[in-house]
Parts: sequence; structure tokens; C-alpha cells
Amino acid sequence: MEQTIEQIKTSALQELEKASDTESIQALTLKYLGRKGVVTQYLRNISQLPVQARPVAGKAANELKQFLDNSFKQAIETIESGLSLSVDQLDVSLPGRTVYAGSYHPVTQVMHQICDIFARMGFDVAEGPEIETDWYNFEALNFPKNHPARDMQDTFFVTDNMVLRTHTSPLQIRIMEKQQPPVQVIAPGKVFRCDSDLTHTPMFHQVEGLLVDENVSFGDLKGVLTAFVHQMFDEQTSLRFRPSFFPFTEPSAEVDILCVICRGDGCRVCSHTGWLEVLGSGMVHPAVFENVHYDTQKYTGFAFGMGVERIAMLKYRIDDIRKFFENDIRFLHQF
Ligand SMILES: [Zn+2]
Repeated sequence: MEQTIEQIKTSALQELEKASDTESIQALTLKYLGRKGVVTQYLRNISQLPVQARPVAGKAANELKQFLDNSFKQAIETIESGLSLSVDQLDVSLPGRTVYAGSYHPVTQVMHQICDIFARMGFDVAEGPEIETDWYNFEALNFPKNHPARDMQDTFFVTDNMVLRTHTSPLQIRIMEKQQPPVQVIAPGKVFRCDSDLTHTPMFHQVEGLLVDENVSFGDLKGVLTAFVHQMFDEQTSLRFRPSFFPFTEPSAEVDILCVICRGDGCRVCSHTGWLEVLGSGMVHPAVFENVHYDTQKYTGFAFGMGVERIAMLKYRIDDIRKFFENDIRFLHQF
């Protein structure tokens, strides 16, 4: 007897601890319990012991055989059932991770609201390219080259003849080129100007509107914009049309609404005037109609445009436009 029962048991368990897969445990089973295995050999050799020692050694060897057989089988079961120690340590009492539901950005929400209101009044929705030629962005809209009106908009130039559109108005030209009156369409989209402060960002959103038909008057313009403002804000929000200048409309008017914060009493938001500027508008200039070959004797029309961020700021009382673009989840979560 080279090894005692205890020595065999200890080395078997040490080897079992190192075994990490089924194959190595099966090899261990063979090594210790196979026909030529260590324990089997031990049992065979018992006959060489003194007679009085044989029963004790035989019992111990059989117990070891049984013990190792169980240990090897259990180890294989554990591996095959996929249970490992790390899984056993999973703490089921830990709180779970919160999954946030996605939602529309406040600017997108307001843009959808604006489009819905005009769609109910019969306007189609159209979209166009964000990079425009000088012709569509300026020339066709009655901004002649070197005209000072071009300075009203700080333009990003892509090439001498290509710009990031400074307004959604090029859509007016693109639509009228393809379609004879009646035209009744709105164009929502991104626009770009080289400008950045509390109320301006280099990229913002506009919604442009155009209606052309026979006998369209400034009264129709006022009616459509009044209906829009009453639905966007509320029926108590009165409007004020102020003479203004845009190259592509004549006459032109800026539209103010009664301050939604102070209701006309005067506050910081309305610079203590009681009014807030929200829209530009006017009757389409005959020069624009001529550029798209519309009969200026037969047709008249109006156009208007608004900044979506401006409307959203007033609707949700946000004082800094840049908050829309910082992607702070705590801010966006409020909408
Ligand atoms: Zn005010």
C-alpha cells in the first residue's frame, strides 16, 4: 500500500477542484474509479493486508469509492445544468434598471401641432432641400444681387452659388414652378443662419405658408392667421398686424400676439410692450409671380412664416432657445 485512503481522497478532491469541464471530470473518474483506477487497485490489494486489518480497510475503501463517485457525478451535473458560482451570487433584491420611454422633442411636437392646425384648414404639407441655389433662396424671391435686403439674413455659403437655406420660402418657388393655382401649402423644415444668442441658434425650424388663388385678399390672410393663433394658444390671444418689409411680399406685415405671459400688462418677456412678435406675412409680390410665370392679373396670394422654436418658447415659457439643443434629458422629460 503506497497511499492511504486519506491521501487518495485529498489528491482526488484537489484534482476535481481544478477540473473545469465534463471531459476532465470523466478522466478523473477513470483515473480513480476505472478498472485500473487508484481506488480499484487499492481494493484489489486489500487481500495482501493482514487478516485483521482487511475489514476496516475494505469498508473505508468502499466508502471512498462511493464518495468520489457521487462527487464526480455532482460536478458534471453542475456544469451541464449551466449553473456556476457567479450565477449563484446574483442578488435578486437589487433594484432594476429604469427603461425610459422615448417621446417627441418639444420642437417636433410644436411643429406637428402647427402642421395639424393648417392641415385642418386645407393646407397640404411640402418639404424641400436644405441646401439651396442662390436663385431659389434669394433671386426668385425678389432679393436681387447686391440688394441690401440680403443682409437681413446672415447666410452660410456652401459655394458662391449654393447656400444653406436661410428660410423655408424657397419652397414657395419650387411649388409654384410645378403647379398652377390654386395653391394652398405649408412647408415645415430646418433653416440656417449665422447667429447665436439667447433667442437665436445657427439652425432652427420654420413653417412657411402659401395660398394663391383668384380674389385672395389681405382679409383672408388675417382670417387664416387669427384662426391659427387662436388654436395654437387660445381664443383670448388677440393679434396685431404691423407694417413691415420683406422683398417677396407687398404689402408686408409682422404679426404680434398679445403677450401670453402678462396678457398685455407688460413683462420682461415682451420687453414691457404687452405684445410678442411671432410671424412674418404679406401678399405675394407680383415680381415673385412673374418668376414662376403666374398671371399677375388673375391671381393674388399671401405668404407667412414663423419660427417653430419661438412658438415653442412662448407656449412652454422657455427663456433660452439653446435649451432645445442641449439634449439634457431632465429638460426634455418635462414635455
Ligand atoms: Zn408680457
